[in-house]
Amino acid sequence: MINFQYLRTTSAKSALALLQKDKNAKFIAGGTNLIDLMKRGVTSPEKLIDINHVPLRQIELVGHNIIIGALASNTNVAENKLIKEKLPLLAMALNAGASAQLRNVATVGGNMMQRTRCGYFYDTEMPCNKREPGSGCGAIGGFNRMHAIFGTSDKCIAVHPSDMCVALTALDAVVVIANAKGERKLLFKDFHRLPGDTPQLDNNLKADEMIIRLEIPANNLAAHSHYLKVRDRASYAFALVSVAAAVEISDNKIKDVRLAMGGVAHKPWRLTASEDFLKGKEANAQNFEQAASLAMSGAKGFGENDFKLAMSPNSIIEALNLATAKV
Ligand SMILES: Cc1cc2nc3c(=O)[nH]c(=O)nc-3n(C[C@H](O)[C@H](O)[C@H](O)COP(=O)(O)OP(=O)(O)OC[C@H]3O[C@@H](n4cnc5c(N)ncnc54)[C@H](O)[C@@H]3O)c2cc1C
Ligand code: SF4
Repeated sequence: MINFQYLRTTSAKSALALLQKDKNAKFIAGGTNLIDLMKRGVTSPEKLIDINHVPLRQIELVGHNIIIGALASNTNVAENKLIKEKLPLLAMALNAGASAQLRNVATVGGNMMQRTRCGYFYDTEMPCNKREPGSGCGAIGGFNRMHAIFGTSDKCIAVHPSDMCVALTALDAVVVIANAKGERKLLFKDFHRLPGDTPQLDNNLKADEMIIRLEIPANNLAAHSHYLKVRDRASYAFALVSVAAAVEISDNKIKDVRLAMGGVAHKPWRLTASEDFLKGKEANAQNFEQAASLAMSGAKGFGENDFKLAMSPNSIIEALNLATAKV
């Protein structure tokens, strides 16, 4: 076990001041990912800054935005009346993740920052460019059943494991981030990164920054929303493929539609071409098939994960069917 210093803070300002002093410090929220990584020697922060007492657990409607604090627990978000009514897609995605016990302590900020579940990343004896840049990628030509089919690079083919983040990408969420000097906003779809030549970077949060809250614009998608997660077990398993689908139907036509996938890329994968195709069209099997086919442009398997090339379009069609069948 490594030695580390433990500090507790009660405001975002003091948390950021502590981080500013020591770039090798890490925030700890629910601890459900960070502690695992520390136990396995994947990460060894010298200081842990406990942010659980920072008052960022709000879930509220402010103007046209639903605001969710970075420390709101996954359970409290999923079970919140406002979220269930206005953003059922988010509630479904959260409830599809982990287990009840984990969701009780896992936070929104921690969920966004959770690291890939690639086995080579967790095994410090194996090559992994994400854990140790320049050491190679064990998954390319190795065990890659869970890995990406979109946006990969010759350095890394890992996927981002979150369910929540897939729904937030589809819902056009905005992330509010702070450092010691002030706040900035980032579209959720731009928060996570593709691996490129720097797979060690999962996202665009800088070393001196903290996630403060999410702002999710109100929408008319609640009635026809579905989060479909295909996995090896019915619970307590990461997605092989997942699809967040939300549709607004007016006069028998698709007025607005949001589609994003999980389990297929280094970041939640928004299906913009499929969305553009579906807008203004009827919600029918033929159009759903065409949208699913458009989504697969550029997809590439790596051997063990080739099954995702067929599972993905089938899952898109099924998610659209389930979303639009709701009354
Ligand atoms: C067995 C198991 C099964 C799981 N299954 C699923 C699943 O099916 N689907 C799914 O989506 N997830 C799953 N998870 C992952 C789980 O959702 C994450 O571990 C959890 O969301 C992380 O949140 P946390 O608050 O515990 O983060 P922590 O472990 O406390 O922190 C994780 C990272 O986030 C950083 N961090 C935390 N808060 C902030 C902040 N406000 N600003 C900046 N950085 C911050 C920390 O420094 C750390 O680097 C599973 C986890 C386990 C252990
Ligand atoms: S896929 Fe990415 S995380 Fe997995 S071994 Fe390769 S570099 Fe590491």
